[in-house]
Amino acid sequence: MARCAFCDADFQTGPGDILLVCPYCGTAQTTDGVKFTDHYMIRVHFDQHESQTTLLDWVSKQLGAPEDLPAKARFLQAEQIWYPFWISSVDADTTYSGLGRDAHFHNEWPQRRGAYKRIEYFWKPESGQFVRRHEINVAAVKDIDSDIRGHPIPTRAKEYFSHAHAEEFDGKVLHSNMTLEQAKSLAEKIAKDKQTQLVLQEVDKIESREDKLEVGETFLIHVPVWELEYRYGNRKYKASVSAPTGYVIESKYPRSMAFRAAGIGVGLIMLLIGAGLIALALDLLSLGAILPGGGLISGGLLIILSLILMYKGASRKEAKEGM
Ligand SMILES: [Zn+2]
Repeated sequence: MARCAFCDADFQTGPGDILLVCPYCGTAQTTDGVKFTDHYMIRVHFDQHESQTTLLDWVSKQLGAPEDLPAKARFLQAEQIWYPFWISSVDADTTYSGLGRDAHFHNEWPQRRGAYKRIEYFWKPESGQFVRRHEINVAAVKDIDSDIRGHPIPTRAKEYFSHAHAEEFDGKVLHSNMTLEQAKSLAEKIAKDKQTQLVLQEVDKIESREDKLEVGETFLIHVPVWELEYRYGNRKYKASVSAPTGYVIESKYPRSMAFRAAGIGVGLIMLLIGAGLIALALDLLSLGAILPGGGLISGGLLIILSLILMYKGASRKEAKEGM
């Protein structure tokens, strides 16, 4: 439990929550009650009904989804969760020196241009500089689905966090597990790793480097996501849809009977061909023919593939699509 330093209300917090958003007045604050003002959000453009319609429209276009899904799906749950992210702008300036692989080519074959009798590899000293501005995006809650963690956030559309706007949709605003200082030092580390990747495109071994990293504007942004659940037939499926953009972040959906039956059919045909190939190879073997191995191997592979296809067709496991 925590007490809001601004409206005096008591509210729930979980383990690891260290930058809090009061669910009554919306003020972001540290656990010591210091107000945090660089707090933004992305506005909702898809309400519950629109996000559900968008989801069904998207799912019905997926390979093998049942045709009657939009008509027969029944939504069971819809919850709007506001996920916090830290966004930092990091200016990075890296000068480096290292060794790159290079080669001397000797004695080109006269008949084959570009082919050499002798190639001599050696290390060559190289140096350079990379100056970049990185926008680093860090999920502020540890327990977050990886598809939601990586989904695109249109940060240019940010505006100051509005408690009233989140309340409009009964949104659940999550606290941050990270302070501003922790977010900044993590952003610096990630930016340095990005610089390392750039340098390693130029040299194979880094001998020395000097990094100047400056973490600039860093802000907290809450991004609303619809967490949906629907029923089709006697099973339940979950999905996440971005409330600002209608983008389907992640969705599970059923496969139609026809799609699964086709899988079993193709599997059966492959099984027969595979068995035929093996029988033929064994026949050739008994006649003392050479190289029957090819038939045995390809026949065996076909049988394995056919079993996988038939298993996938027969299983009722849902399909999953993310990004
Ligand atoms: Zn409050």
